[in-house]
Amino acid sequence: MLDRLQELKDEAITKVKEAGSLNELRDIRVTYLGKKGPITEVLKGMGKLPAEERPKVGQMANEVREAVASLIAERETRLEEEALTAKLQKESIDITLPGRPVNKGSRHPLTSVIETIEDIFIGMGFTVAEGPEVETDYYNFESLNLPKDHPARDMQDTFFITNELLLRTQTSPVQTRTMEKHEGRGPVKIICPGKVYRRDEDDATHSHQFMQIEGLLVDENIRMSDLKGIFEQFVKRYFGENREIRLRPSYFPFTEPSAELDVSCAICGGKGCRTCKQTGWIEVLGSGMVHPNVLRMSGFDPEKYTGFAFGMGVERFAMLKYGVDDIRHFYTNDTRFLSQFTRV
Ligand SMILES: [Zn+2]
Repeated sequence: MLDRLQELKDEAITKVKEAGSLNELRDIRVTYLGKKGPITEVLKGMGKLPAEERPKVGQMANEVREAVASLIAERETRLEEEALTAKLQKESIDITLPGRPVNKGSRHPLTSVIETIEDIFIGMGFTVAEGPEVETDYYNFESLNLPKDHPARDMQDTFFITNELLLRTQTSPVQTRTMEKHEGRGPVKIICPGKVYRRDEDDATHSHQFMQIEGLLVDENIRMSDLKGIFEQFVKRYFGENREIRLRPSYFPFTEPSAELDVSCAICGGKGCRTCKQTGWIEVLGSGMVHPNVLRMSGFDPEKYTGFAFGMGVERFAMLKYGVDDIRHFYTNDTRFLSQFTRV
């Protein structure tokens, strides 16, 4: 019986050494150490042995069992290590390979135009003010001298949420809101950039949503010549030193007198061409002296304070500066268009 055990031990040791995978080891364990294995069989047959031989055989059987078990465990650890090493080698990353290029985005052209214009006006002492895009009828129209039945409202039809709540058609309500905060004391010197909405059919030059920047300066002794001086500075810094300006009479309900600002045509230098419709001038924004009614409604005394206001379309300024012929390019997120502005 002892010989049989020694035989089993040698057999198992050889098999364990030859085992090439964890699965094979598992099978060996079941075969030799399992409940139906040969070692168990030997132990079961111990009853037939003479009493003095039993302890010897029992001891030997346990030794064989332990030896085989520890050998299996050892081999198991080795195989696991080998498997891990092989896996790591297979999955290793070659860090010397060149990386895939990442497409870098850039600021949207409208954002850079706004920031450029903001910088110019901040340089002249203006601060930037913002307000809500969902406005009340009062701030968007009435406080700007456009009572409910005013015909000029037709030019600014918009999206109504209720009879009193709407999407603002201009950034002018920010002017009123800011003036109210000043409680009748000047100076007020702000520019207000932001999105505005109109019930317009979209085409090459119109959009139901676009961006405006408005400016407002209210203080004592503010005259139209101050407005012209600010415009001269602004146009030269935005469009270039050699551009001329002119003010042309116009009408807005919230300013009196009102004027359009024209800039000399860059293409023909003022001689007249197709772009400027042979006039030599290009219209860029609307402006005027703040209407006394607007000042009064915002808590300012029109006998003491005067001021000017102006408003420009950001898209128009971007189109004029970069020669863009369709306003819709700004909203369609076409990278072929946007990537042209990476260095702007
Ligand atoms: Zn021209």
